[in-house]
Amino acid sequence: MKKVIKGLRGMPDILPGDAGRWQYIENTARTLFAQYGYEEIKTPVLEETALFQRSIGKETDIVQKQMYNFKDRGNRDIALRPEGTAPIVRSYLEHNLDKQMPYCRLYYVGPMFRSERPQAGRNRQFYQIGVEAIGSASQYADAEVICLMMKLLEASGLHDTELKINCLGCDKDKEAFEQVLRKALEKQVKCLCEDCVQRHKKNVLRIFDCKNDSCKLILGSAPKIVDHICPDCQAHFNKVKEALESIKIKYSVNPLLVRGLDYYTGTVFEVTHKNLGSQDAVAAGGRYDGLIDDMGGDRTPACGFAIGVDRLLLAARDKIPSCNNDVDLFLVLLGEEAQKKGFKILADLRENGVACQMTHEARSLKSQMRLADRLKAKKVLIIGEDELKNDKAILRDMENKQQKEIKINDVTNTHLW
Ligand SMILES: [Zn+2]
Ligand SMILES: [Zn+2]
Repeated sequence: MKKVIKGLRGMPDILPGDAGRWQYIENTARTLFAQYGYEEIKTPVLEETALFQRSIGKETDIVQKQMYNFKDRGNRDIALRPEGTAPIVRSYLEHNLDKQMPYCRLYYVGPMFRSERPQAGRNRQFYQIGVEAIGSASQYADAEVICLMMKLLEASGLHDTELKINCLGCDKDKEAFEQVLRKALEKQVKCLCEDCVQRHKKNVLRIFDCKNDSCKLILGSAPKIVDHICPDCQAHFNKVKEALESIKIKYSVNPLLVRGLDYYTGTVFEVTHKNLGSQDAVAAGGRYDGLIDDMGGDRTPACGFAIGVDRLLLAARDKIPSCNNDVDLFLVLLGEEAQKKGFKILADLRENGVACQMTHEARSLKSQMRLADRLKAKKVLIIGEDELKNDKAILRDMENKQQKEIKINDVTNTHLW
């Protein structure tokens, strides 16, 4: 018996109907990004494993449990990118983009990879659309990035979202808070899950990423980072909130929000939607003022967001139109000679930018008309043996069902339609 090979678990195919919705989201994104002054950057899906260990953090769930990393044929440690920011920062430094543009506004669209348990809206190959604004410490950079994210979600058809923001403070604040939190949790270490016991020792902030209910309960009464940030960070956070209010972006402050990546400093945010589970954000991001420094560059403030396209589609599938190809003209051809003629007409029309089609197989009139209907062709041109003899074809308007005769050689003059 023949055996059919199936795709890998958590690596979904995006089939034509849905791919049209993806196109719609991507087109919407590209239009908005251009309007906001963001330029596209494309980085490879494979990078050195060390890039992600150094940027996202060795103790994070992403690096510890979810990253696809392996030895290649040259025995190099490489990984499929689990997120987009680290590769962009790598590329930014490698190609000295800071020397070319003091304020770099970049966007990306592409697949990311994490080996999680597949479930609705959580695939092992998933797609992100994101931006990175590198080079500004201003509150307007934070607010613009958040605004762009919200506008894109809305323009893609996702309404009634909830935006949550928080402030993690600067590196110094984070360090100081780690001491505070470690001490505060000391007596309750026994009640934490196994992972969190390790996190308590190595990277205590990561306890905030725990999905375990008992750990969450303990954190509920633990000190909050936003209460331990320095006056400068406090002032910046207030200015970000003010800027958001000035452009009528609704938000709530969630002191438990930290995002599961080590590189975040200052403002962090995420967007949730009732159609997704409580743990699944449709978009998220934040400031990472220390990352470029950590990766070997000069200290450069930056912030960005990423939208999960799979989740956006899951939450708003019926609101997202499919980018169908329009068919201006469908050629219904009866008989071999008509097909020959039709094939040439098709080539001429396409040369003039007309979207047109014919069946390559000989089919009955009825079956060709049915196909034209299914493709939602605007007009149909019917050529049979008689029409060929008389140099006349029938042009049918599929919307108002009107028909008229047209000289076959005039078909390429579309103004005569
Ligand atoms: Zn600070
Ligand atoms: Zn835990």
